Amino acid sequence: PVPDPAAGEAVKSADRAHVFHSWSAQGLIDPLPVAGGQGAYFWDYDGNRYLDFSSQLVNTNIGHQHPKVVAAIQEQAGRMCTMAPGFAIDVRSEAARLVAERTPGDLDKIFFTNGGAEAVENAVRMARLHTGRHKVMSAYRSYHGATAAAINLTGDPRRWASDTGTAGAVHFWGPHLYRSHFHAETEEQECERALAHLEETLAFEGPGTVAAIILETVVGTAGVLVPPPGYLAGVREICDRYGVVFILDEVMAGFGRTGEWFALDHYGVVPDLLTFAKGVNSGYVPLGGVAISAEIAADFDERPYPGGLTYSGHPLACASAVATIEAMAEEGIVEHAARIGETVLGPGLREIAERHPSVGEVRGMGVFWALELVRDKETREPLVPYNASGAANAPMAEFAAACKRGGLWPMTNMNRVHAVPACTVTEAEAKEGLAVLDEALAVADAHTTA
Ligand code: PLP
Repeated sequence: PVPDPAAGEAVKSADRAHVFHSWSAQGLIDPLPVAGGQGAYFWDYDGNRYLDFSSQLVNTNIGHQHPKVVAAIQEQAGRMCTMAPGFAIDVRSEAARLVAERTPGDLDKIFFTNGGAEAVENAVRMARLHTGRHKVMSAYRSYHGATAAAINLTGDPRRWASDTGTAGAVHFWGPHLYRSHFHAETEEQECERALAHLEETLAFEGPGTVAAIILETVVGTAGVLVPPPGYLAGVREICDRYGVVFILDEVMAGFGRTGEWFALDHYGVVPDLLTFAKGVNSGYVPLGGVAISAEIAADFDERPYPGGLTYSGHPLACASAVATIEAMAEEGIVEHAARIGETVLGPGLREIAERHPSVGEVRGMGVFWALELVRDKETREPLVPYNASGAANAPMAEFAAACKRGGLWPMTNMNRVHAVPACTVTEAEAKEGLAVLDEALAVADAHTTA
């Protein structure tokens, strides 16, 4: 990339004048003007290149500008840019087939959306219609999207401002041994107590009022929380016993991120509805969807499904999904992500944790990892308080700035840094990222009480 600071300034000034940014105090942000990206990297207009350890919003699973996917979008644009959802078209049929071949059990019908939140929105609608019940239960440590039902189901503080009409959302505690809500000391205790807590919450809510339980298979934004063995199977069993629809949200965990096509493949659990987005086409064109069980799909054999979107199964999005899934299969990208996790990221992050007093826990799989940063390894006091902002968040902001100075774009959330590069990240790139994290953690160490 050739530096062009003047062009960067022009991009930035028009942005500041006219672009209203997500989740932000508009006057306090300083968006980086980005000129381009390739593979595991992107770069600005000043000649700085960043190793993308955030995969943008954990979506560029095949990296930036994969040539096969770029070509497929160009080819599709030349042939058919748009066609309404009511028609049968080649790329939509093919994308649905390729997704359905990878979803478990009889989740063989695909309703396409423009992203993850709309997938959650429609999964909830299907569950309510299927059961004739209204409430939906979700975990406090969760993110499900920013539309009406999805934001209410979300656990993190971004939901608070939208909690005025909670639309039947009920929260419970999922398993998280490091910060156990259940005073558990082992994974087995955590699993057993989390399941008992879920069942008790269900009993007190009235099982006859609960349409669905929705969980991220591996919780993403709220901390890369890998469920203990038996937890998801236990939730499946509770859902079956009370006639509750089980929705697994694979928007972030799906399509290679955990080293399997879907995170649920690690557990052999089959939900009734599965939501996906992000990695299905690495976000090259907005796309998400719901994979639907035969039983729920059959509800709408004779009566119309009361939901739809102008761009459901958009040709450019579907063409990019077909090319992405084919590239991932041809190039062994899912297996590669598993290997990088087992041989480079996992061992490397654990080694880093030993060297740094600020790293309380390392967890993850595939290219889906989190470091939990603490002031004190013994007390586990988080490096910054829950939902810290401004001065209270300074240690995390300083740490993120140190990563960027080292040429690494990190994903930070509360007191955590997530290491979530592309599934295609090479061993050398992963090691380069680990080295930058290692160095930047000195900044976090300086804030420990040890
Ligand atoms: N579900 C999960 C698990 C997610 O991680 C996200 C986004 O981060 C969403 C849903 C919402 O997806 P979108 O931002 O595409 O609406």
